[in-house]
Amino acid sequence: MTDTARYHRPHTLEGALALLAQGDCRIAAGCTDLFPTTRHKALGGSILDITGIRDLRGITWTDAGLRIGAVTTWSDLICADLPPACDGLRLAAREVGAKQIQNRGTIAGNLCNASPAADGVPPLLTLDAVVEVASASGTRLLALADFITGPRQTALGPGEMVTAVLIPEAALAGQGHFLKLGARHYLVISIAMTATRIVVREGVITHVALAVGSCGPVATRLPEVEAALIGKPLDPALIADRDVATALRPMDDMRATAGYRSIGAAELLRRTLAALRLEEPA
Ligand SMILES: Cc1cc2nc3c(=O)[nH]c(=O)nc-3n(C[C@H](O)[C@H](O)[C@H](O)COP(=O)(O)OP(=O)(O)OC[C@H]3O[C@@H](n4cnc5c(N)ncnc54)[C@H](O)[C@@H]3O)c2cc1C
Repeated sequence: MTDTARYHRPHTLEGALALLAQGDCRIAAGCTDLFPTTRHKALGGSILDITGIRDLRGITWTDAGLRIGAVTTWSDLICADLPPACDGLRLAAREVGAKQIQNRGTIAGNLCNASPAADGVPPLLTLDAVVEVASASGTRLLALADFITGPRQTALGPGEMVTAVLIPEAALAGQGHFLKLGARHYLVISIAMTATRIVVREGVITHVALAVGSCGPVATRLPEVEAALIGKPLDPALIADRDVATALRPMDDMRATAGYRSIGAAELLRRTLAALRLEEPA
């Protein structure tokens, strides 16, 4: 740090927002994304450590649904008593690094880092998640799909921070799932990952949300593929490689080719439908 740089760890949101309003402060939560991006032994500039703000951590039920505080960790999510619709989010939490990372890494850190491979994004898209953003001048709500605007880019403006992720009550119906494809079984950066949330009534799909990550600049829902599943029984054969490929813009990189990513995503979705069919009550 330079002579003028400071480390701040306020205990109230108001204190944090006042510091942010002064400008030139870098927000730090678990630091599991922040530290790997610096080539130095310490983070440069002034740091605003938000992990001391108790109100920002934890999961609560509200009249509108679920409220997940910004500094809620992946371990918190794994241990929480959540409805089956959130199983995709919980499965994703188990796949974020190993336990040490899950103990430190936070849900908002994952969203704000906005990596195309962020495992938290697809399950939150299937839960119609809304991001609560606060600054000294007020609070605003953004659909997650509008919050992440590109790779490593968000809609956060100067002086703003994420305070919570909200899951509307209507999105807490059904059963969630998450699958990740990597070069090995554990501790991988995703080549592709899929999240689903499906409501089945009297043997047919009445609501479905499908999301794919690591197969484009940002994770995305697949509205056309979703629409084609409504009114049908859970059948993996309903997911065609061609339909999934049309909905994605995968990239070639050191981890996989675009073609492999797209076929992998379709296969993960088929496996999800097969897994949920097994869980379906007779
Ligand atoms: C070994 C290792 C393995 C990993 N494996 C995975 C993996 O499998 N899957 C995966 O998705 N990720 C993985 N990660 C990345 C990382 O752990 C997660 O993205 C984590 O959730 C980041 O949270 P954090 O609290 O550590 O964020 P930080 O590093 O503290 O912050 C990340 C960014 O978000 C900003 N930020 C943080 N909180 C807020 C807020 N409330 N408001 C505004 N801005 C904020 C920071 O300024 C920074 O730019 C891994 C990281 C490591 C080091």
